[in-house]
This record gives sequence, structure tokens and C-alpha cells, in this order.
Amino acid sequence: MKDSVTEIADVVIVGGGTAGWMAAAALSRFLANGRRRITLVESDAIGTVGVGEATIPPILNFNRMLDINENDFLRATRGTFKLGIEFVNWGRAGDRYIHPFGSFGHDLHGIAFHQLWLRERVRGEAGDIADYSMSAAAAARGRFGRPGREAKPPLSELFYAFHFDASLYARFLRGLAERQGTIRREGRITGVERDGESGDVAAVRLESGERIAGDLFIDCSGFRGLLIEEQLGAGYEDWSRWLPADRAIAVPTANVGPPDPFTRSTAHGAGWQWRIPLQHRTGNGHVFSSAFMDEDEARRILLANLEGEPLADPRTIPFRTGRRKLSWSHNVIALGLSSGFLEPLESTSIHLIQNGIQRLLALFPDKPVSPVERDEYNRGMRDLYEDVRDFIILHYKATQRDDTPFWRHVRDMDIPDSLARKIELWRLHGRIFRENAELFGVTSWVAVLLGQNIRPERYDPVADTLDEAKVAAAMAEMRAAYARAAERLPAQDEFLKVAGAWA
Ligand code: FAD
Repeated sequence: MKDSVTEIADVVIVGGGTAGWMAAAALSRFLANGRRRITLVESDAIGTVGVGEATIPPILNFNRMLDINENDFLRATRGTFKLGIEFVNWGRAGDRYIHPFGSFGHDLHGIAFHQLWLRERVRGEAGDIADYSMSAAAAARGRFGRPGREAKPPLSELFYAFHFDASLYARFLRGLAERQGTIRREGRITGVERDGESGDVAAVRLESGERIAGDLFIDCSGFRGLLIEEQLGAGYEDWSRWLPADRAIAVPTANVGPPDPFTRSTAHGAGWQWRIPLQHRTGNGHVFSSAFMDEDEARRILLANLEGEPLADPRTIPFRTGRRKLSWSHNVIALGLSSGFLEPLESTSIHLIQNGIQRLLALFPDKPVSPVERDEYNRGMRDLYEDVRDFIILHYKATQRDDTPFWRHVRDMDIPDSLARKIELWRLHGRIFRENAELFGVTSWVAVLLGQNIRPERYDPVADTLDEAKVAAAMAEMRAAYARAAERLPAQDEFLKVAGAWA
């Protein structure tokens, strides 16, 4: 059967939201090269979700992979820098902590920094763990500096991502994708043709009657999953028993001051509110569980907790937390909302798209698709989704709040075994292990666990092998160095203006 294997010649992307245009930009950059045609179909009448504005540091790799100039991109998307997320009211009402990008301090003699910090804390000398992070030190001061390739510590330890207008990002990528040869077709898909034998998708039909045939289809059609679900019935794994939020109400507001270089997440009675500062406005939204709060109440809370004037009417977006059981079925790969949804608490959706694209490039198939490559893709995506899921659940489980039925519910709920094991390892000796290609590393887990008052019973005894005075001196030095370096940075809006990145 070997001679019937051919190269994929026609890739059809269904949908032109953030997922569709990210896929088009990457596939046309790496696969078009005269041998393959990339076509994207989108419907202006259906439109896009159009929210989703905060990202995590790997987005820098995606932009670099596409040779995108960072200042041009920031100007085009009205973007700002993001150094982490500030969480307010999560452990207890009134608590506040930051989950910064990058790492906390430096390990000494191979002993994890957070173990040294835990030991110092017992002695009462440690201070706030955020004082040992370059990104957190800059965020606390509203400052930013871009560490160049030549940067030395501590500035080289400043890690960042972006806040941007996701619709403008899609538009920016569309320009790039079209210049790289992507063909765009506008129109509503009203029919899908399948191959009688294999069941593969053979073509989509537009309302106009136009038929677009392909060898491989990327389903970026949003929550409905036009191909992956409506045609192929891949199935959906529902995770709402752990993550009961099922709605978001979003509203943009006018800026009241220079944008902060961090996202804020403020917990309310049955969910939480995001605040994402861009150059020209601030994105806000209230994610909540409709089983615990009605929509009018959720809207009232959102509007009562805005800093600037609303620029549009609040818009409700219902969702169901979980993932498509198969991200890749037959010759269809689902990316973006069609492949699943996890609330934007750690700003991971765009990363899940990016990761899916990079994984697809790494496993790009021939025709017919090899089950080995397809299964490898599905395995990797499942692991990634589950890692993100566990990390998000942690924020709810690790609460001491008992002021509403929602918080009592999430505090007392059963959690996945994978997460229960991690929390128990932490509780005993503050141990965190990053397994396989887990997205969130030690700093992220330490930030959230400590930030939400989950203290280990003991630190790792190996920390006692280091001289107390030397550790104390090294830590004081680190803390001072981060503070000094942050003080020398410009305010983030100044940085953006000087760099020519302010629109
Ligand atoms: P959509 O934007 O829904 O696009 C679907 C596309 O398919 C459209 O172009 C539509 O026209 C097309 N289409 C559908 N049906 C047809 C048809 N029949 N014919 C032709 N075309 C069709 N992500 C982050 O990374 N960070 C965040 O902070 C963040 N916040 C979010 C907050 C909320 C409330 C939500 C809901 C999402 C958030 N996200 C966030 C996720 C992010 O917005 C999405 O992952 C991203 O926008 C991708 O959407 P999409 O392209 O998959 O789908």
C-alpha cells in the first residue's frame, strides 16, 4: 500500500478567528513553498469570539518563528507587556499575590531556591517570595525593560508575555498569511462532503455554492466544532465538576492611567474578574458559575468593580469547560475553541492554539494520515490540556474562603488524582516536580500555593546542609539586586513610546 501515500497538497482552514489566522500564518510560512495550497474560509456574518487578550511567555517563540518584529506587532495590536498575574481575594478575601513569569531567585548548590526561602521563613527572615523575582519586582513598580540577547542577570531573568487586542492580532496575522500565499474565502459553510470509504472530510461547500476541496482540514470554527464535532462526532470530555464556571461577561473600559504591566484577577462570590490593560483601553470580564449566581447579579458585580467608563455594552459568552476527546480525528485537526475550553484564569487558550500548531508542524502527515502520527498528536494535546486543567483547579481548591456556597463547593470538591498527588507532595516537604513537558514550572506552583496560604509542614531537610549565614547573605543580595534593577527600568508606557511600539 506504500505507493498510494502522497503528500498533502491542499490544506483548508475552517474559521478566521485567532486560531484560524494563527494557523494560516504558521502553515503558509512553513508549508506553502509552492507545493501546498493553504486556504482559509471565514464568515463575516458569523464573526469571531473576539475576546482573549492575555498571553504567556511562549508566545514570543511563536512570533519569532514567524519573524514578527515585536514593536510592529505591539503597535498593530495596541499591545502592552505582561509580567505576570496579580491574584486578589483568592486565598482569603483581602489577600493579594503575584504569579510572576520567570523564576524565584537562584538555586544554591543545586538546592531549590524555594526550599531556602522556606527555611528562611521559619527564621522569620525571608520576606515576600515575590521580592525574589525580577518580573514581579518590575511589575510592582509598573516598569518594564526588554532583556536583549546580551542581557546579564538580574535583567536576563525578566520574563514577559503580552496583552493585546485578539481581533487586531488576527488581522495582523491575516496580512502576514496572505502575503505568504494563504487564499482567503469569505462565506458561510453550509455543507460538508465526506469520502464514502474513509469517512475523511473531502470538501466544504459555501452558501454561494462554491466547493472547497482539501486533503487536510483545520477546524477553527469556534465552540461548535463544525467539522470535528458536527461531522466527526469526536465527543467532549466535560470538566465542569472541577471548574464550575460556565459564563463570562466581558466589557471594555477607558483607561484611567498608564497601563499596568500585569493582568489582575479578582475573585468574587461565584467566580472572578479579569482586568487586562492595553494601550487604548482595558479589557474586563467576570467569569462565573450560573449554578451559583444569576447573570444579573454577575453583571452588577462586574459593573460595580470597573475602574474606567465602559466603552460598550457588556456581552455574555456561555461556555462549557472541557476538551474534545480527540483533537485530531480522520483528516481533521481542531484548534482553538473547537478543541476545548478552559477559563482564561492563567491566559492559556492562545497558547493551546500555538502548541497545537507547533505540534502539527512537527507531525505533519501525508495522505492518508498515519494513525501513529495522529495518535501522538492526540496524546500530547491531552496531556497539555490536563496539565493546564490541574493548575487552574489548584486556584479554586487552594482557598480558605467559605463566605459563599461557591467557595465552599470548590474548597471541598474532589480533585483529579494527578493534582491531589502534587498538593500532598507540597504539603509534606514543599516538593514540586515538573513532569515531562508540563507547561507550568516550579515557580508557578510555588507562587500559587504560597500565595493562597498552603504552607508545607516542613521544608526539605537537604536545605539544612547549607550554612545559614551564607544563605541569608545570598538571599539578601538577590533581593536587593532585583529591586535595584527594577528601579532602573522605565515605566512601561515610556518604554513602549521610546521603542516606537505605542500606536
Ligand atoms: P472564534 O473566534 O469563534 O472563530 C471562529 C471562526 O469560525 C470565525 O471566523 C467564524 O466566522 C468561523 N465560522 C464558524 N462557523 C462557520 C461557518 N459555518 N462558515 C464559515 N465560517 C465559520 N485566550 C487567551 O489566550 N487569553 C485570554 O485572556 C483569553 N480570554 C478569553 C476570555 C473568554 C471569555 C473567552 C470565551 C475566550 C478567551 N480566550 C483567551 C480564548 C481566545 O479568545 C480564543 O481561544 C481565541 O479567540 C480563539 O478563538 P477561535 O479562533 O477558536 O474561535
